[in-house]
Amino acid sequence: MPEGDTIFRAAAALHRALAGRRVTRFESVYPAVNRVAEDRPIVGRTIESVSARGKHLLIAFSGDLILRTHMRMNGSWHLYKTDQRWRFPARHMRVLVATAEVEAVGFNVPVAELLTSRELARHRELRFLGPDLLDAGFDGAEAVRRMRARPRDAIGDILLNQRVMAGIGNIFKSEILFLAGIDPFTLVSALADADLDRIVAVARDELRANVTTADRTFRRPTGRTTTRSLDPNSRLWVYGRGGKRCRRCGAAIDSQKTGLDARLTYWCPTCQPPRTTGV
Ligand SMILES: [Zn+2]
Repeated sequence: MPEGDTIFRAAAALHRALAGRRVTRFESVYPAVNRVAEDRPIVGRTIESVSARGKHLLIAFSGDLILRTHMRMNGSWHLYKTDQRWRFPARHMRVLVATAEVEAVGFNVPVAELLTSRELARHRELRFLGPDLLDAGFDGAEAVRRMRARPRDAIGDILLNQRVMAGIGNIFKSEILFLAGIDPFTLVSALADADLDRIVAVARDELRANVTTADRTFRRPTGRTTTRSLDPNSRLWVYGRGGKRCRRCGAAIDSQKTGLDARLTYWCPTCQPPRTTGV
């Protein structure tokens, strides 16, 4: 699943290319989107902004119409000059917004809808989003409060809960808990305030670092790093490294399937020892 930094970078790149420009072509394979676009044509409108809210990407058009997309597992937005060849087959296109200069193509984007700002404000998936880690006004205390409201959740699960805080996906979940030295299966109730504060601080640092250091191509998250290593083979501490040696202590990295969709969690049993007592 794309993480918050990927969506944030995609939104920033799309904003730079599209904001202030007029839409010359709009296409979608989704009947519900096309119905709205027939009643209220997108072509001719100006793109006012492209922004990220959690893992939702929002393209706002003049005249109060917003295209909301969500990438889920496999969706991605690409940006092309109008004469450039697409890197994915056209059959994977789900939605397209073109100006005279560029084409923004949403490939395999499974969720797309056109909304008014009023509908967006009431949207059930956005209304309950927790504080966004990449938002300049991020409220860490509110994130901690929302974690405390779920004392029986494991910390690894709660980091993925976008209603607690928005932006963390499966890769960052494992990396953040490694950097914070916390076993992913620890219940929130067993963690001190200082632990939660540290987890939130690390989460924010890592997402922000990966937005600012990443290159401008947002198509693949290959630039993501938490180790700050320039070696492409040692960019992450634990994610995807089950059975390999911990870069810090040499112990074997553990992994386990967790959650409803059985995503893998990775951790170092030595650097992230289990908590046996509550606080
Ligand atoms: Zn270790």
